[in-house]
Amino acid sequence: MINHRGPEFKDLLAKVTADLRTVFQTEHEIMILTGSGTGGLEAAIVNLVNPGDKVVAVSIGEFGERLADIARVYGADVAKVSVPYGQAADPQALEEALDRTPDARAVLVTHNETSTGVTNDLRTLAEVVRSRPNGGPLLVVDGVSSVGSIPLKTDEWGCDVVISGSQKGWMAPPGLAMLAISPRAWEAVEACKCPRYYFDLRQARKYAATGQTPWTPAVGVFYALRAGLELILQEGLENVYARHRRVAQHCRDGAHELGFELFPDPAYASNTVTCLKVPAGVDGAALPGRMRAQGVEIAGGQGKLKGQIIRVGHLGYVHEADIDDVLRALRVALGEG
Ligand code: PLP
Repeated sequence: MINHRGPEFKDLLAKVTADLRTVFQTEHEIMILTGSGTGGLEAAIVNLVNPGDKVVAVSIGEFGERLADIARVYGADVAKVSVPYGQAADPQALEEALDRTPDARAVLVTHNETSTGVTNDLRTLAEVVRSRPNGGPLLVVDGVSSVGSIPLKTDEWGCDVVISGSQKGWMAPPGLAMLAISPRAWEAVEACKCPRYYFDLRQARKYAATGQTPWTPAVGVFYALRAGLELILQEGLENVYARHRRVAQHCRDGAHELGFELFPDPAYASNTVTCLKVPAGVDGAALPGRMRAQGVEIAGGQGKLKGQIIRVGHLGYVHEADIDDVLRALRVALGEG
């Protein structure tokens, strides 16, 4: 292991941070925290939201609920804007929620809802927020399963904080949460009264300026993240996005041929995860096990979607041939019952 307070780590941190800024499409500072994506979500809340602050949480699935819950746990007064699972957020409903909550400190949005396979129209939602007086509330975006795989223009769209996690499109093991933070979000971080220690972004920023992290980082994951970023940048961001679009379409088409119906509204179907309704008469809870027996990992539904859907992840290092393997295994799994 290298010394995380020595020159090698300093170089590693500088390289990874610079490449992350390219992929997050931001000129803002990026902080890399040791923790999973949820740690990144918690860091955003505890550094921006004071106990008692009003927050508008746009929730379209389990991860939207999680972000709203974190805000609630830390004492925020949370107004939720929800839709039935499978739908995308309605910009008009967000507009109305902001009319009812003119003093909201932050709007929380999940860009790509991994539990339902829906990608929100973040650009339009961000426009709604930005068109409020004084640039609107802070816009906090859960980009865990989107950044680096599907377009998210942090600065151009006016996102204040965007969070991702190393195990998703970055092709690295879990263990690092990355946050892009705008100058006005930093002002809120400095003024925030919420207690925080491990995820204190003021500490992260102070140490980042010296090429370090405040606490021992997940050094091994940094190396993997550096390799993942090299792959993304070698392929080119636009090519990566195009490949995700192609692979997702291939998955949806192939599943349709097998008799599956898409769970989400097709207009908002995610290009990083495909959620399929379990056909009538098929034991949905048994499908992941039957796939695993063939060497293919898929996920079942989460929360209230348990047993009702299956989820095929296709983000990061994934090509049409991988989807073909999934579809072949799915055909066998369906035949088994
Ligand atoms: N948000 C979204 C959209 C996710 O997909 C996930 C994980 O799948 C998370 C948050 C939570 O991240 P983690 O499991 O790394 O804590």
